[in-house]
Amino acid sequence: MIKKALVTPFKTNYNAAPFRIIQNKDFLPTFKEAIKMAKKEINSIVNNPENPTFKNTIETLEFSGEQLDRISSIFFNLNSAETNEEIQKIAQEVSPLLSEFSNDITLNEDLFKRVKAVYDSQNNLELTTEQTTLLDKKYKSFSRNGANLPEDKKTKLREIDKKLSQLKLKFGENVLAETNKFEMLITDETDLAGLPEGAKEAAKQMAESKNKAGWLFTLDYPSFIPFVTYADNRDLRKKITLAAGSKSFKNDTLDNQKIVLQIVNLRHERANLLGYKTHAHFVLEERMAETPETVLKFSTDLLEKAKPAAKREFKQLENFAKKLDNIDHLEKWDGSYYSEKLKQKLFSLDDELLKPYFKLENVINGAFTVANKLFDLHFEEINDIDKYHEDVLTYKVTDSKGNYISLFYADFFPRPGKRNGAWMTSYKPQYIKDGENSRPHISIVCNFTKPTKTKPSLLTFNEVTTLFHEFGHALHGMLANTTYPSLSGTSVYWDFVELPSQILENWCYEKEALELFATHYETGEVIPMELVDKIKESATFHEGMQTLRQLSFGLLDMSWHGQDPSKIKDVKAFETETFKRTTLYPETKETCMSTSFSHIFQGGYSSGYYSYKWAEVLDADAFEYFKEKGIFNKTVANKFKKHVLSQGGTDNPMTLYKRFRGQEPKPEALLKRAGLIKT
Ligand SMILES: [Zn+2]
Repeated sequence: MIKKALVTPFKTNYNAAPFRIIQNKDFLPTFKEAIKMAKKEINSIVNNPENPTFKNTIETLEFSGEQLDRISSIFFNLNSAETNEEIQKIAQEVSPLLSEFSNDITLNEDLFKRVKAVYDSQNNLELTTEQTTLLDKKYKSFSRNGANLPEDKKTKLREIDKKLSQLKLKFGENVLAETNKFEMLITDETDLAGLPEGAKEAAKQMAESKNKAGWLFTLDYPSFIPFVTYADNRDLRKKITLAAGSKSFKNDTLDNQKIVLQIVNLRHERANLLGYKTHAHFVLEERMAETPETVLKFSTDLLEKAKPAAKREFKQLENFAKKLDNIDHLEKWDGSYYSEKLKQKLFSLDDELLKPYFKLENVINGAFTVANKLFDLHFEEINDIDKYHEDVLTYKVTDSKGNYISLFYADFFPRPGKRNGAWMTSYKPQYIKDGENSRPHISIVCNFTKPTKTKPSLLTFNEVTTLFHEFGHALHGMLANTTYPSLSGTSVYWDFVELPSQILENWCYEKEALELFATHYETGEVIPMELVDKIKESATFHEGMQTLRQLSFGLLDMSWHGQDPSKIKDVKAFETETFKRTTLYPETKETCMSTSFSHIFQGGYSSGYYSYKWAEVLDADAFEYFKEKGIFNKTVANKFKKHVLSQGGTDNPMTLYKRFRGQEPKPEALLKRAGLIKT
């Protein structure tokens, strides 16, 4: 049975998602009906007797499937934030239906013919920049999937895709099996020296759950990280570090060396088939960086600038370890341990010291005040729309003239059924249709410390920056002002999307901003500046070494994907050669990074690992502009809103950035902020 209310315009305030009337059993029939409706819309484009035009083909395609997008947003947002077994089961039924539908579109030859006809005649059409961008995006969604290839090559491409997805799956399964296989059981309590109580407790419980006596450590991060950071026993740190570093690198059934070579060669072949020089060229075509050459130059420049600081820090760490424990040569299993010790000695910054200044309500209001001072936004809590859980806060966002800008949902506390981490998402994109600007419904979801009977929710500093980060993404969504939904808000290139989020974190370190909200929850006292200075200093602790590490992963990624890999026979030798420029620790023959580098061989980060640093350069450079003119300077804020936040993906990100900043981003601001160059 289909509930008609779910496939017709919502009759709710602000057309907000009607959580109260949706029952789990409604999802599957609604999805099926919405797919049917979307297919009908696609068919009407294909069967249109008129010649293809931008309006009757590209624009109609863009606005098709609205009901499907709407139910998908609601369903998958719930599957992340408020799920249960029933929803998870529906997700497994729905996912193949959705990928089949999206394949039906990209493989629809008649549809592609019409899209191509418009694409080929674009010079004769008077299109706006946004329309040209949309046309290009639609065309590429076909061409990058082989729509232009002759039949035999199309078949070849499908074969490669099939093999690649199997290999990626196998790669992940092997890494997971290796992670699960390793256990380090400790039975002598003296071997736990140095570990915090929480880590010991967790290890004891882990042992108990497996009917073992003692303390059990595994390669899962919550178990592994505390061990290598705090355990005094160097031999055991070595044991677990080598185990983590040698995943799927033991020439056994779980080995990934052959799979790595197969994956990079297939990706290269696929890129060549589609007319690209390498896989990296293929990926970067749809990134702000555009080419592997840009990424390499960017990484090498940063590397050269970070290296002296990294070497200095390493030397300092070595001296510290020598003095403390008479260690002559720092090894990979010593890094985290002595770093933490040195950090404690230099800063003695305790989360418990900071938390009273960051009551959740104050921090939220702080974020709202910052948004008000910068972008004239007002947040009013409302209770006349449905919530999917009673913890969720709902707001109406307006501008200074009282115009309605967006709905804003904020969901802060952990509960069973919510996945880990923090994220921003939306229930409805912004777009302009038939002359009406349809405003977005934006949401952020976090897992912050819950209030207790006696204490309000007090955030760690890390949670504070997380809230500002997600709120930055939310502003990108709320302030969207574009015609087409697929170019709206955060629908931008991957290496551009973290600019609005990361830049907002900067306000958490500024006195002028902290004074607005970082007040003691009992005394009302504003956070002392010496604490803020300590936060800043400790945030850049060992930044040189961190930078080198990040760059080394990005460079390894580019080495695998930015050249013809057919001559590479030895994974470890290739990797060692690549790491030569970035490594500080002595080489260990037992370990190999590539065989468990899931980001690039299983997940979607291939040729994209550089994005982390790229985004940091962008946000530091952009914030530098604010610092020059004042962190609440209206002119700079307006430019950021006008050229970045409201523009979504309507134009090339470098063009947008230059319009805001007046020049291309430079790495100096990041290097300065990170303390890698003196000012
Ligand atoms: Zn983010």
